[in-house]
Amino acid sequence: MASGFSQAVAALSIGTCFYRAGMPKRVWIAGILCSVLPDIDVVGFHFGIRYGDFWGHRGFTHSLLFAAILAWLVAIVGLWRTSPATSILWIWTYLFLATASHGFLDAMTDGGLGVAFFSPFNNDRYFFPWRPIRVSPIGVSRFFSARGLEVLQSELLWIWLPSALLAALAWTWQRRPAGAAPG
Ligand SMILES: [Zn+2]
Repeated sequence: MASGFSQAVAALSIGTCFYRAGMPKRVWIAGILCSVLPDIDVVGFHFGIRYGDFWGHRGFTHSLLFAAILAWLVAIVGLWRTSPATSILWIWTYLFLATASHGFLDAMTDGGLGVAFFSPFNNDRYFFPWRPIRVSPIGVSRFFSARGLEVLQSELLWIWLPSALLAALAWTWQRRPAGAAPG
């Protein structure tokens, strides 16, 4: 896992790309919750589920299908048509990307098993070829250690910084003068 803090930062930064006037804050909170929820699978360790299993860590809950279903459930339950510029589909797209970002970030970490992006159709585990993020220890207590500091440093560089840049770009784009022509 990337740490929950960094996951939240990534979800918020994706959220800035989807910002529309009249969107309530709970949409962003839902995005953060969706982005950390895939790690609910660590509970399975206590029940003897092995890392590489279907329900194991980075298994089905880290798949694209799970992201699609979770986003759909949350969008429907929230019935979020929040302003004329936003539809359920708009909100779904945000929540889907927020959830899926979790698997993408995990696939860029340097430890553990890969991510079952295509579960349940294909349960193979995948990493991206480029994995600069130090894997975060599972559990909060172990996070506050020397190892945790190292993880935080790599996440600041590879998650927080790109997230801030993305948010700044989205913010600038949204605030461009109305009717401005490109070029
Ligand atoms: Zn994870």
